[in-house]
Amino acid sequence: MTNPQTILKKYFGYHEFRPGQAEVIQKVLTGENVLAVMPTGAGKSLCYQVPALVNPGVTLVISPLISLMKDQIDSLKQNGIEAAALNSTTPQEEVNPILRQAYEGKIKLLYLTPERLAMDYFRYQLNFLDVSLVAVDEAHCISQWGHDFRPAYRQILEGINSLRSKPNILALTATATPAVQEDIANQLNISRNNFVITSFARPNLSFKVVNSPKDTNKYIYDYINAHNDEAGIVYTNTRKKVDDLTRYLKKRGVSVANYHGGMANDERTKVQDDFQFDRVQVIVATNAFGMGIDKSNVRFVIHANSTKNIEAYYQEAGRAGRDGAPCEAVMIFHPGDLATYRWFIDQSEADDQYKKIQYDKLHAITEYANTQSCLQQFIVRYFGQDTPACGKCSNCLDQRKLRDISVEAKSIINMVYEFDGRFGKSIVAQAVTGSKNKRMKEIGADQLEHYGSLKLPRKEAESMINFMLANGYLETVGEQYPVVRVTNLGWDVLDGKKKVLRRGEPKIDEVKANLSPDAKLFNALKAKRLILAKEQGVPAFMIFNDHTLHEMAKIKP
Ligand code: ADP
Ligand code: MG
Ligand code: ZN
Repeated sequence: MTNPQTILKKYFGYHEFRPGQAEVIQKVLTGENVLAVMPTGAGKSLCYQVPALVNPGVTLVISPLISLMKDQIDSLKQNGIEAAALNSTTPQEEVNPILRQAYEGKIKLLYLTPERLAMDYFRYQLNFLDVSLVAVDEAHCISQWGHDFRPAYRQILEGINSLRSKPNILALTATATPAVQEDIANQLNISRNNFVITSFARPNLSFKVVNSPKDTNKYIYDYINAHNDEAGIVYTNTRKKVDDLTRYLKKRGVSVANYHGGMANDERTKVQDDFQFDRVQVIVATNAFGMGIDKSNVRFVIHANSTKNIEAYYQEAGRAGRDGAPCEAVMIFHPGDLATYRWFIDQSEADDQYKKIQYDKLHAITEYANTQSCLQQFIVRYFGQDTPACGKCSNCLDQRKLRDISVEAKSIINMVYEFDGRFGKSIVAQAVTGSKNKRMKEIGADQLEHYGSLKLPRKEAESMINFMLANGYLETVGEQYPVVRVTNLGWDVLDGKKKVLRRGEPKIDEVKANLSPDAKLFNALKAKRLILAKEQGVPAFMIFNDHTLHEMAKIKP
């Protein structure tokens, strides 16, 4: 048997294994079923490609995307390794010669879509092959709890079990929470002892969250401008936004190209190549871009809109810095995006359990965008591991001192309490800021003691409620129409046992003082030097400084 180390050098030209690779390969070669969880770019492919060359016979690789297979096969061929791919649409007259070559030992790796493996006649044909290993790439697709569920993945085990040669299984994924790991293991008969999980942390990646900037396009343009000559990807969530943002950036002289699923194949290939070979600096894309792209020097990944879940975010952000050099991942967060995603889940035909999973994933994104603690730590913990604070994400760097917002928090908690868990956060925000919306009268909110008790703009109140939800002072219950409730931590705040501290300052913003354009309040604030300016001739607008919003709550107008 050839030694894995020799194969690594001879075929791939690498001198040493990366973390996790040797352990996975060693377990695979002893015939165990193995689950490998390693971050994007860690080198998972090698974990089955090396055994494929060590073992006699052929290795089957189940992979969800034809484009992914094609890229892998091209690069294997460049290394002098014969490989081929079959999907469910490959005509029978092309299937037979490939199977023959595999039978004769001329093909060592055979890539299949799960749909192909599910075909009866094909399974029958596979029985003529000596299959030594089945690698299941992107194995999270097998789980409903994952972010990319693919029903045909459910039939993989049945397909493998029908093989006469009884191969062992290697499942691989970059993004599996503990629940998903469990699910994969159960479905593919993998024992806990055979989990190889390398650290989820990406030490060269700095994370940053930007909450609803005034002008997202301008923010992105300024960012790119400050990162001259660095390769970057900007993700947004619709084809139209991709095209619009590309046009916007191009007009301002950025070297940029667009990429989405609505473009012709050759056009997409051209964009991909231009990026790969540094002929274009920035790609604006939907999430169709990236799978199978192996560009090592991507220095930044900006999400102009949040993803629907942390898994997808980490996968996409993880395309930065595969070379190990410093790089940055920026998420621009707009709460409205999540409302849209939520609506799509509401409208979908999926069953309730599946919907609940998707709602929970959306919730985790809101938490990520609102957490005060280390962003890298948040993500790593989401995947069930731990890591020290990174010291360089936007939260770690945010050294501004914590603000005591207990007074405001109490107004909100009291409002929620008065509502007795009957309403969602938007109604709470309206009521506590004293909205004149007729819905307030309908539900009797205007009769409640704490109606209008929070002298803050609606937006700031919403942001505060999100913060309190993310940090456990409040909780939501229910999926489709989640209502807000007070938690034990929230009661502690009301009882004065706990303070609510928040980092940073409310945005110095022009704030509609519909809350109290009242002259007495204005003068009181002015006396306390809490107002920076009053917009000329528009008394309904005041510009606050950082203490105003806090102090306003204390002053009874
Ligand atoms: P993953 O599937 O985990 O995202 P890939 O298998 O696509 O990652 O590998 C990412 C890159 O790392 C590829 O360019 C691969 O050639 C390279 N690579 C893998 N293993 C090693 C190694 N031991 N030494 C150096 N480079 C490696
Ligand atoms: Mg991979
Ligand atoms: Zn950090």
